[in-house]
Amino acid sequence: MVRAEQVHKSFGHIEVLKGIDLEVRSGEVCCLLGPSGSGKSTFLRCINHLEKINAGRIWVDGDLIGYRERGGKLHELREKEVAAQRRAIGMVFQRFNLFPHMTALENVIEAPVRVKREPKAAVRERAEALLARVGLADKMGNYPGQLSGGQQQRVAIARALAMQPKLMLFDEPTSALDPELVGEVLDVMKDLARDGMTMIVVTHEIGFAREVGDTLVFMDSGVVVERGNPREVIANPRHERTKTFLAKVL
Ligand code: ADP
Ligand code: MG
Repeated sequence: MVRAEQVHKSFGHIEVLKGIDLEVRSGEVCCLLGPSGSGKSTFLRCINHLEKINAGRIWVDGDLIGYRERGGKLHELREKEVAAQRRAIGMVFQRFNLFPHMTALENVIEAPVRVKREPKAAVRERAEALLARVGLADKMGNYPGQLSGGQQQRVAIARALAMQPKLMLFDEPTSALDPELVGEVLDVMKDLARDGMTMIVVTHEIGFAREVGDTLVFMDSGVVVERGNPREVIANPRHERTKTFLAKVL
């Protein structure tokens, strides 16, 4: 579902990603761990072309992201084509970014109707089912300000799912939450994983990585330091940097 080859990304003369390779199969959950500043968010943003990479290639479901290859050369896709690629990739951030003047239901309905031009009645039905699925059947008419952080994040997940993505990217989805609200969001993500969604999850939740992750990728300073089965890597990290990091978050 995702294949990244030698992805390089610089901001000015600072190289933030120094040749990232990654492969995520359909239905897999890949947990991306690493210290702050190691390039995790930048890498996720490269996957849906919110950042343009300086070298390397990324494919999602066989599509080269951001470019068309012709005669061995890469040509940048037009904005419309990039937007179409992006629609197939759901993203959930640390901050929920819900529209404050719209109810939970309206937040979920918005993108499929406005961006995909789907008929509102069909989208509404799907949105209601998604909100029920994330445990918010009784909060559909609430505004974000009337919801807890955990509930808002579940709305944000439902909103991403409403676009029927092939791939979901999560960037520290529970980091901004009060500790007692983390579990309800992780439970929704677990349910999604069980249902076969392909997911890349940047998280410091080691328990989630161990229980739900199919692979764990540990990044530091723009490189992949170590990767493998989450249970094995967590129980038996091979690299000093992985050990130091795990000792801090465990
Ligand atoms: P992580 O998510 O692992 O904490 P980030 O991908 O956010 O790391 O950041 C990696 C590095 O890239 C950091 O040093 C950060 O300051 C830098 N960086 C990220 N985005 C930008 C940007 N838009 N312009 C300049 N530097 C950036
Ligand atoms: Mg980050």
